[in-house]
Amino acid sequence: RPRHLTTSVRDDFPLLAAEPEDTGLVYLDNAATTQKPQAVLDAITGYYTTINSNVGRGYHRLGLASTEAFEQARVAAQEFLGAAGPDEIVFTRGTTDATNLLAATVGRRLVGPGDQVVITGMEHNSNLLPWRRLAEEAGAELVVVPVAVDGRVRLADFTAALGPRVRIAAFAHVSNVLGTVNPVREMIAAAHRHGVVTVVDGAQAVAHRRVDVRDLDADFYCFSGHKVYGPMGTGVLYGRRDLLVEVAPYQVGGGTVKGVSFAEPVTYVPVPARLEAGTPDVAGGLGLAAALRYLTDLGWDAVRAHDESLVRAAVDAFDGIDGLRVVGDPARDPSGIVSFAIDGLHPYDVGGHLDRHNIAVRCGVHCSSTFLDSLDLVGTVRVSFAVYNTERDLERVCDALRTVRPGFWTTEQPNTRFL
Ligand code: PMP
Repeated sequence: RPRHLTTSVRDDFPLLAAEPEDTGLVYLDNAATTQKPQAVLDAITGYYTTINSNVGRGYHRLGLASTEAFEQARVAAQEFLGAAGPDEIVFTRGTTDATNLLAATVGRRLVGPGDQVVITGMEHNSNLLPWRRLAEEAGAELVVVPVAVDGRVRLADFTAALGPRVRIAAFAHVSNVLGTVNPVREMIAAAHRHGVVTVVDGAQAVAHRRVDVRDLDADFYCFSGHKVYGPMGTGVLYGRRDLLVEVAPYQVGGGTVKGVSFAEPVTYVPVPARLEAGTPDVAGGLGLAAALRYLTDLGWDAVRAHDESLVRAAVDAFDGIDGLRVVGDPARDPSGIVSFAIDGLHPYDVGGHLDRHNIAVRCGVHCSSTFLDSLDLVGTVRVSFAVYNTERDLERVCDALRTVRPGFWTTEQPNTRFL
């Protein structure tokens, strides 16, 4: 098994393979979304050109083939996460869909007036707003665990927030802003000691580390397909069986009911079908399964070694660029993300300059303005690596950064405090 990935990985991704390697696009916005390998595109096209048919309904050859393929995709997601059974896997539209589903179902059932919901200060809006709205609607309190000055959530701070009124704790596995990894296993164990149900936002984790939900003892764990080389509009919500079977229908409609009349109480089918109202994105599910297989086949050791070498090389190289400061400590436990600020320069000006050099990065607040506010930063420039990135990509970034000058944007707020 190779310790590092080879540059030929890039050839598996048509959008990148079409670009000349030395002067073409350098795509480093992978934490926003990844490019898709040919295997994923083939799975989608293959589905529509051979077995396209609705699932769980038609007693005809295509309908059965389509249903079987979709259920096999569920098994692929189960194996990817180490879940106990495919019935613990709910297909969603992504992480945002999953957190909204959980807040509206489990949240509404468990959280009442005077209760508390715990999140952390580093959450993406998609794992903040559903819980904030739930707390407001239930007359409960949203408790925000502070992020320590090194950009990490201290287990002690999290544990200190777990009082007798806490019903649910929701937190990111990996920060989309700094790439810091939270001690989720220990956080889940602490929550369980207090009888608190946990929701882990794994959106930034699953493309960079092997996640085993049983090892984590996770209650609910969610991720988006498009950040792990799969199609947009796909995602997975894992729920531990004993908890998932209690989850009431979120959306209702076709595929969710056993018995329905105009007057008698409605009886619903078991999970996961109960939580997948309407016609699902079957081709997307197959594409996602192909993506999970593609990543797993590269080998986790190789993926980890690749992430570590690129993140460490980036931190070292950025150290030599005038006024550039890396935020947090991304080399400590690399997740592919390196966020930085440059003294006196607005992140948008840096992003615009890199774009003119055919380099795609993310700049701004990364859908997490509450976290950026707490860091006293108007934003960061975020470089995020994927399996197809190379040392050459990093060189191109560094070359471009050496010529960046103040531009159109001003820092309305000085970038004063750096981690
Ligand atoms: N959580 C985190 C940590 C994320 O990085 C993202 C995507 N930026 C989301 C949630 C939301 O994911 P999606 O837009 O795919 O629903």
